[in-house]
Amino acid sequence: MLHQPVIDGLEFARTGSKLQGALPVAGFTRLRDALSTSKGAVQYELLGVPEELGRPTLRLKVAGELQFVCQRCLGALEFPLRIDVSLQLAATQAELDAEPLAAEGPEGIVAGRQMQVRDLVEDELLLAIPLVLRHERCTEGGSQAWNEKRSPFAGLRGLVGGTKH
Ligand SMILES: [Zn+2]
Repeated sequence: MLHQPVIDGLEFARTGSKLQGALPVAGFTRLRDALSTSKGAVQYELLGVPEELGRPTLRLKVAGELQFVCQRCLGALEFPLRIDVSLQLAATQAELDAEPLAAEGPEGIVAGRQMQVRDLVEDELLLAIPLVLRHERCTEGGSQAWNEKRSPFAGLRGLVGGTKH
C-alpha cells in the first residue's frame, strides 16, 4: 500500500483543505536508523488554514508510537508521540528570512507546489524526539519510556545542580 500524498502548500491552506491518513514508519528514512523496529505507522491530520496570525498556515497533528533502542541498555524504548503544530507558510526563503518568527510562535516553512506530506511529518517527528534516547531507569526487560517513568524530582535537579558548580 503506497500512500505518498503531495500537497501544493499555499493552495492547500487557501482552500482550507484537509487530509488525513497513516504513514508507514519504514518510510521515514532519516528516523529509521534510531529505531529498533520500523514496523507500524503513525496517524496524521493536515489542515489548511487560509489565515492564522496573518499568514496561510498548515496545521499538522501526528499521533503514534515509535520504538527506539535505549542508548544505555540497548533495550526497547517506546516513545509515544502527540504532535500538534502550526506551520506558517512563506512563499520564498527570502520572505521567511526577512521576518524571523518569535521563538514561541509557530514555525515558518517555505511553501512548495509539491510538498511531501511524509517530509513534513518526519521533520516534526525529528523535532519531537529527545536528543538522548534512553530509559529514565534501565531495568531488565523494561520497556517504559523515560518520560513515563520520570522521577518526581527530575524537575528540581536543574535548580539544585546550578548551585553545586
Ligand atoms: Zn535502557
